Amino acid sequence: MHEWSLASSIVLTTKKIAEEKKVQVKGVDIVVGELSQIDLEILRDALNTLFKEELGWSIDVRIEVEKAKLKCNTCGYEFGFNEVWKQIKEVFCQDLEPGEECENPIHYVPELASSFIKCPKCGSPDLEIISGRGVWIKSIRVG
Ligand SMILES: [Zn+2]
Repeated sequence: MHEWSLASSIVLTTKKIAEEKKVQVKGVDIVVGELSQIDLEILRDALNTLFKEELGWSIDVRIEVEKAKLKCNTCGYEFGFNEVWKQIKEVFCQDLEPGEECENPIHYVPELASSFIKCPKCGSPDLEIISGRGVWIKSIRVG
């Protein structure tokens, strides 16, 4: 999986910033988009391991998840997947037995979203994903 290469670039970036600013890093805060298909436990393990093995740092790694958000290009309305959950269910989960869990496939294939979700305000299918993708360093805590 790409968690390890991602962790590796986060570690290198953190090191570069620490050197440029001449600071000692105590911790890093990472944001992971809900749609970025990252396994948070693997990422956390990879970061802890690489900081330790590559740099000899034992630092506090925190990871937070950014909720996905969509925007309607027709009326400008912004909304989360929770507002269109019923639409998603109707497409993917109508054949489920009672009590079976409806698993949201949007989390795995976000590109699918705009092919069947419509704006809850105006019904337009012209939507774009404006947050919840990608991974970045939110802040670096220094001592
Ligand atoms: Zn709209």
